[in-house]
Amino acid sequence: MSPEERSLRIDLAAAFRWFARLGMHESVANHLSAAVSADGARFLINPRGRHFARVTAGDLLCLDANDPHALARADAPDPTAWHLHSRLHARLPAARCVMHLHSPHATTLACLKDSTMYPIDMNTMRFFGRVAFDEAFAGMALSDAEGDRVAALLSPGKTVLLMANHGVLVVGTSVAAAFDELYYYERAAATLLACYATGKELRVVPDEVARLTERQWSDYGQLAVDHLDNIKAILDAEEPDYRR
Ligand SMILES: [Zn+2]
Repeated sequence: MSPEERSLRIDLAAAFRWFARLGMHESVANHLSAAVSADGARFLINPRGRHFARVTAGDLLCLDANDPHALARADAPDPTAWHLHSRLHARLPAARCVMHLHSPHATTLACLKDSTMYPIDMNTMRFFGRVAFDEAFAGMALSDAEGDRVAALLSPGKTVLLMANHGVLVVGTSVAAAFDELYYYERAAATLLACYATGKELRVVPDEVARLTERQWSDYGQLAVDHLDNIKAILDAEEPDYRR
């Protein structure tokens, strides 16, 4: 295994463990993946039925998006994970990491008729113009066609896909970038929903302020790297088996 793949596995395993700590996972469902090959065809993903809190770097499956027999393997991935992530990695090689969760706040927002992330604080402004919407929930993603349909919704510049009546999917140029984006999306959704719960009117900032703040977030790329590095340091002290 290359040092790059080893380091990718450790980063992804750390993301699983941390999402479990944050309660952003759901049972033994949901999936995170990272491209290994430059064309995105070879990618790492969690094994079927494994709780996020138990995922280790060595457990992650390495699959080939072009393998017609992936679901026939003895250690076959979850079918919905396969159809979604294999098509996303094959069609979007720049998306080095794809994360899909039914995290509580993002999912609540996805169940509202108006799922817009209104720019009301710095975290919500981070997502100004970055969110694509999948309005067409039609059951679980159990075909390649469904994966292709979802991939087509992520036009350039979009990092988040809010999936109506379902959950959220994030793409990033690295595990750290996707992890940080999903973490902040959940935080932003929590703030917006807390504001809705007050029944008071939102204090929405003008588009130009939201756009400027979104750009400023983009210039803080190191924040995502520092974020994941700190999480790995905490896990190294408290549950180092994630590297196994
Ligand atoms: Zn899902």
